[in-house]
Amino acid sequence: MAINKRKVFQVVFSLCFMIGTTLAHFTELPIKIPGLKIPSNPSVRVLDIETFEDWAWASFYVGIFYVFKFLLVGGLLEITNPIPKTLYRTKMMKKQIYMGLWALFFVITTTTLFFWKVEKFMPYYGYYETHSFGIKEFLLNIIVYMFCFDTWFWFTHILFHHPFLWKHVHVFHHQFVEPTAFGQDAVHPLEAIVQGPFGHFMCTLFYPMHPVAHSVFGLLTSFFAIFAHDGRWDPNFHIAHHHYNDVNFGLYWGFWDKIFGTRYNPTKHGVYKPTWERNDQGLSLLKNIENKERSK
Ligand SMILES: [Zn+2]
Ligand SMILES: [Zn+2]
Repeated sequence: MAINKRKVFQVVFSLCFMIGTTLAHFTELPIKIPGLKIPSNPSVRVLDIETFEDWAWASFYVGIFYVFKFLLVGGLLEITNPIPKTLYRTKMMKKQIYMGLWALFFVITTTTLFFWKVEKFMPYYGYYETHSFGIKEFLLNIIVYMFCFDTWFWFTHILFHHPFLWKHVHVFHHQFVEPTAFGQDAVHPLEAIVQGPFGHFMCTLFYPMHPVAHSVFGLLTSFFAIFAHDGRWDPNFHIAHHHYNDVNFGLYWGFWDKIFGTRYNPTKHGVYKPTWERNDQGLSLLKNIENKERSK
C-alpha cells in the first residue's frame, strides 16, 4: 500500500500539537537562565519583560534558540533531500540562510516587544490565572489559533501579491521557485513581521489563549513552514505556490483557497513536477544555469 506522505505529516503534525500543548500543564519548572525572567505563573505570560534590558536579554535567548533551530532543522533537511545539489541550488540556499537570519532578527525582536509593550492590553490577558485550562480549552485553543493564523496569512498573502507589494516586498520570497528548507524565513523584513508575529498574536484579540500553549503553537508552525519549503512533507502544497505564483495562498490548509478558487488543481494547472524531475528539459535547464555559474 502506498503511503501518502502528506496525510502522514498532517497526522504527525496534529499529534505534535497535542503533545506540545499538553506540556503546558507541566511548566512550573525552576529554570534559571541569567538575564532571562521566566514568570512563576506561566498561565499569565511566558516571559517577564519590564525594562529595555529584559527585552534585550529575552530577544537574545529566544533569538539564539530560533537561529539554532533554523540552522539545525534546515541543515538536516537539506542534507537528506535527494534533489541534485547544483551550484545554483547551493548559491540560492546560502541566500536563503542570509535572508532568513535577517528576517528572524525582526521576527524575534517584534515578538518580544509585543510581550513587553502590548500583551497586557490584550482583552483576555491573564484569563487562565482564574480559569482552568482543560482538554476542551486546549482543543479550542488549537482550532482558534490555526483558523486565525491561516485567515490572517491568506488575506495578507493575497495583499502581498498586489503589484506594488509584490515588487517591493514579496518578490524576495518568490525568487526561489524551488526553495530549500531555509526558504521559510527568506522573506522581506516587512513580510516577516506581518506574517510572523502579527499572525501569531492575532488570535489573542478574539479568544483566551494559554500563553505556553500559544508559544508552542508558534514554534510548531515554524517547523511546519520549514518542512513545507523543503517540499517533501508539504501538506498544503506550498511548493505549488512558489511554482505557479497564483495558487495555494494558505498556511496550514486550503480552506480560503477553496472558497476563493485559488486552490491548486492538477487538471487546470497541469501536474506539478519539480525542475529536477522534469527529465531532459528540467535537467538541461539546471545544467545551463550551472554552466553559466561556472563561467562567471
Ligand atoms: Zn506568495
Ligand atoms: Zn514560501
